[in-house]
Amino acid sequence: MERHEVCVVGGGITGAGIARDLALRGVDVVLLEKGDLGVGSTGRSHGLVHSGGRYVVTDPESAAQCASENLILRRIAPSFLQDTGGLFVGFRGDDEGYYSEFARGCRSTGVVAEELTPEEALRLEPGLSQDVEVAFRVMDAVADPFLLTVANAYAASLEGAEVLTYAEVVGIRDGVVRYRRDGEHEVKAEVVVNASGVWAAKVAELAGYAIPLKAYRGTILVYAGRASEHVINRLRMPSQGDIMLPHRNTTLAGTTFSPESRLERYGIEVEEVRILRREAERVLHRLRSRRVLRAYAGLRPIVGEGRKRGFSLFPEEGFITITGGKFTTYRLMAEHASDEVCRQLGIRARCTTASTPILEEEQREGLEVYIERYGALGAEAAGYADRRRRICLCEDVSEGEVLFAAERLFCRNLRDIRRRTRLGMGYCQGRRCTFEAALVLYSAGIINHATVHTQVLNSLRERWKGLLPLAPEAEEVLRELRLMEATFGCAACYDRIKKHVHGLERFL
Ligand SMILES: Cc1cc2nc3c(=O)[nH]c(=O)nc-3n(C[C@H](O)[C@H](O)[C@H](O)COP(=O)(O)OP(=O)(O)OC[C@H]3O[C@@H](n4cnc5c(N)ncnc54)[C@H](O)[C@@H]3O)c2cc1C
Repeated sequence: MERHEVCVVGGGITGAGIARDLALRGVDVVLLEKGDLGVGSTGRSHGLVHSGGRYVVTDPESAAQCASENLILRRIAPSFLQDTGGLFVGFRGDDEGYYSEFARGCRSTGVVAEELTPEEALRLEPGLSQDVEVAFRVMDAVADPFLLTVANAYAASLEGAEVLTYAEVVGIRDGVVRYRRDGEHEVKAEVVVNASGVWAAKVAELAGYAIPLKAYRGTILVYAGRASEHVINRLRMPSQGDIMLPHRNTTLAGTTFSPESRLERYGIEVEEVRILRREAERVLHRLRSRRVLRAYAGLRPIVGEGRKRGFSLFPEEGFITITGGKFTTYRLMAEHASDEVCRQLGIRARCTTASTPILEEEQREGLEVYIERYGALGAEAAGYADRRRRICLCEDVSEGEVLFAAERLFCRNLRDIRRRTRLGMGYCQGRRCTFEAALVLYSAGIINHATVHTQVLNSLRERWKGLLPLAPEAEEVLRELRLMEATFGCAACYDRIKKHVHGLERFL
């Protein structure tokens, strides 16, 4: 049986952060993730690195944590962050009493907020509704949540951590963790860290502990194109449809908030799509003429009362759970969990993640375009620069990038590659490039003959899921779905695809 000092369960941003923190302290750690890295709540968030403004009135402790972690992330991960800045904007008809509460809350929690006149706000963001009454400028930033998670896991592995994806933990007893990954395996650890987010109560149950955790669903819409350059937050008591932000070449509009009893296969309701469109298009008028590319939903893990967004640590001897919190505060969560691990193991090494860059930030001519896409992982990506052929035309992803992700970034299938490179995340939602990418991987011997068909279908199915809830709302989405259906029909006919694959292979 394999042995490690620590076994981390969960490869979201928290688990990846913990693996890196512990590895930097010289602890021998293995991370087990049941799916892909960041596939849980992390990858379903907006990727907003909060200024803290959203919580100054309802949860001052979380606000202060966000404000200080925001500054730390700017220091340790500059190339993974897009320093958009943010605006909190109040419109005619909003609750004016909230404006002064917000300003007071910012002052008392250390959240930097500069009041602007409506004219100044409109100069910064001409696309805003002319109804702006009050505006504050804050220090919001945007990160690609998948990439930041992968970067943490990658950095952890450089320090000696073992990272295993598609490794589902199914039993925990006396420090022996049983997991499934192409068969059953066991690993013995002195401490198990449960960083499984919204699944934390289920994983704790495997070890015989109870965690009082609730799940709240949130839905987000993806619009084509950037409708603003800042993160736009509504200046009101946190509600639905409060946040719009530019992410790569899209705009994300979120989110909703409703209790959810299912942890898997929960749906998106048409009413949620309606609320989000109404709210977003009221604030940023230019969204009215933009196409909604897809909708996605995730679950927030919340301990106790729904308004509080802080994290909770449950430190049992040999079994530590950390859950709740935010994407923004993951590093702090990892520090708390790792401090407790070290206390239990009698290790004196201190946390260094607040000052150590996640990865070396290399700057040299020619790297800029790769850094813009892959942050400090860009130097690795540049090593594949000779394979220039464009595979995904909507998101401009090259054959080299597909191979880079497949070979270096813990990928096992086409969906993992999409999460690293944005392949298939654009206008056509992977209808064409899914096949192209499968072909590249097949030709490189990365996926085999037996699985290529399933990979293509699974990838297209995933895209389909995000389009379906939009169909009753938008004619253009219906057209896209019809096209995709035809593609599906074709893909299901494996013999035809097989011939196609074999035929094209010769020309590569
Ligand atoms: C709609 C929405 C929008 C959000 N927006 C923001 C935002 O903009 N900014 C922000 O700061 N926060 C945001 N959040 C909150 C943020 O996403 C979460 O707090 C954070 O991502 C939680 O990360 P995590 O690693 O703790 O959990 P997760 O990302 O859920 O990771 C847990 C992992 O554990 C794995 N796992 C579960 N069971 C097992 C098992 N048995 N074996 C192995 N692995 C297992 C899961 O597959 C998963 O990958 C948002 C949340 C939602 C739902």
